[in-house]
Amino acid sequence: MASERQIFVGDVPIGGGAPVAVQTMTKTETADLAATMAQIHRVAQAGADIVRVAVPREKDAEALQAIVRESPIPVIADIHFNYTLALKALDAGAHCVRLNPGNIGGPDKVALVAKRANELGTPLRIGVNSGSLPAHLRELEFENPVEALVTAAVEFVELMESLDFTNFKVSMKSTSVPNTIASNRMLSARIPYPLHLGVTEAGTKWSGSLKSAVGLGTLLADGIGDTIRISLSTFHAEEEVKVAWEILKALKLRQRGPVLIACPTCGRLQFDMDSVVAEVERRLEQYEDPIEVSVLGCAVNGIGEARHADFGITGAKDMGMIYSHGEPLKKVPTERLVDELFAEIDRYYAAGKRVVRDEAQAAEARAWLAENEDETAMTPERMAAMEAAQADLEADSSPLRLDEAVSPVAGRRFTRTG
Ligand code: SF4
Repeated sequence: MASERQIFVGDVPIGGGAPVAVQTMTKTETADLAATMAQIHRVAQAGADIVRVAVPREKDAEALQAIVRESPIPVIADIHFNYTLALKALDAGAHCVRLNPGNIGGPDKVALVAKRANELGTPLRIGVNSGSLPAHLRELEFENPVEALVTAAVEFVELMESLDFTNFKVSMKSTSVPNTIASNRMLSARIPYPLHLGVTEAGTKWSGSLKSAVGLGTLLADGIGDTIRISLSTFHAEEEVKVAWEILKALKLRQRGPVLIACPTCGRLQFDMDSVVAEVERRLEQYEDPIEVSVLGCAVNGIGEARHADFGITGAKDMGMIYSHGEPLKKVPTERLVDELFAEIDRYYAAGKRVVRDEAQAAEARAWLAENEDETAMTPERMAAMEAAQADLEADSSPLRLDEAVSPVAGRRFTRTG
């Protein structure tokens, strides 16, 4: 379930059923205005809705005013330990300030920040980290780290409420994926405020993306989480944004840019699909429309599961074919497959999103497909289709039924209906 409450970070709604917002954090020295602004423009271009900047020193707080003024997306100031920096960030016009009420100098300092934020109408993000829980929860942390994390978050929520401050979102960060999932599930049931999700120090682009996809994906599929950040060990913050979007797109929570589908390849592959897929992916980044493009490693299946794709290619040793919505468009030499694919896509946009088909070329492509298709081959796709058909058959005769209405956001759950 989405959070009950909604807040606004700048003009971006968070929670209360708003689309899950994508955020990232700059990796530059914040006070280096040119470098910070260049990175903010890159992450905004990649699709970040919100950007966070670290404010560990006076000079970073001083740079904030210009950053907020020049940034195309709302800016969150990330503060630790120093409440005066939080006050300065608020006065500099930050659209939100992130702080950990446990390390900012005590409840009276939190009260000063909350008072100023209230006067300015600026939201706060209050966060707890598994590595820095209050002393009285250390023993509980040892016995039950999830309960300790949630208890700390609830205590901070109660502190903010006691200060008459409710314009906030909450985050609980853990390096453990299971603890991230369990604690956010528990907290979402206990508080009405928006949740920011992330797996802290997730790792490199490869392992960090996977950990985040598993941790955040599990929660998002259940409708938990209102804004996300993927933490990756890279200086290129836009990579974090791209991963966040892939997670949201995979769950069909948001749409942005094209969707690339590619077969996993197998022994039937007859051309260098690795480099073809990489090239297609790279060139698709220039398009904003959510068209679906498919790459199949062979034509043995026919167009099969790529039937719904707006455009696709399939290849053999010397020749390949371009298709659209299951219908062949033209046959082309393998080395020109990618260029011709993009020529067709551009023609489609130039014609006002209409597929332009040359009947003679399409007939030639159909004949090529008929020659290369093999209806008897047991390909991975056909085996998967057979398994799915078998599962459907079994589901029909079982009291367990697939009920998509149970999780309208994204999930598909099995419920007992009989
Ligand atoms: S059989 Fe399927 S997985 Fe194998 S290359 Fe052809 S399309 Fe790809």
